[in-house]
Amino acid sequence: MQRKGKFILMTREEFKNFINNLKINRKITLIQNHHTYIPNYKHFKNNHFVLLEGMERSHLERGFEEIGQNITIFPDGLIAICRPLEEAPACIKGANSTGICIESVGNFDVGGDKMSEEQKKTIVFVNAVLCKKFKLIPSINTIVYHHWYDLNTGKRTNGTGSTKSCPGTNFFGGNTVEAANRKFIPLVLEELKKL
Ligand SMILES: [Zn+2]
Repeated sequence: MQRKGKFILMTREEFKNFINNLKINRKITLIQNHHTYIPNYKHFKNNHFVLLEGMERSHLERGFEEIGQNITIFPDGLIAICRPLEEAPACIKGANSTGICIESVGNFDVGGDKMSEEQKKTIVFVNAVLCKKFKLIPSINTIVYHHWYDLNTGKRTNGTGSTKSCPGTNFFGGNTVEAANRKFIPLVLEELKKL
């Protein structure tokens, strides 16, 4: 593990131990998946902490109290704890109070970055570890994409209304509820069995 200020950078195994030993008092019902869009793969040069500090700076400029996400996943598969998990994230209007926010570094819209195998592995792993910790059954009701929430109302619309494409139109085969159901949730279920 490497630490810089509040940011703690770790491997998948270290993350599993870290989460298992963590005591969280707030109720968790949702795991949010996002892509950072910027920074993306062209900005990643083994500079994890530089990117984390840059994201925090831009979130402070937008009026947040600190970096918005609880967890960041890098193209090399490493994981950073960011905003403490005991704090609700600032990532999806309408879904933060009982949520944990995962931001994966990259632009996963069609035509953007091709997700590395290590990052893929870590995203599935982190979702599975969090489901186990918070006793959530992986489904489209517990694992959610930013795209499914209306940006203005904060209501879940499953992709209609005013939405972002986040976590990307090519995130594990798409950002729709159907894509998540067919191509992402099954991987998390499979991983959960191994934990
Ligand atoms: Zn997002």
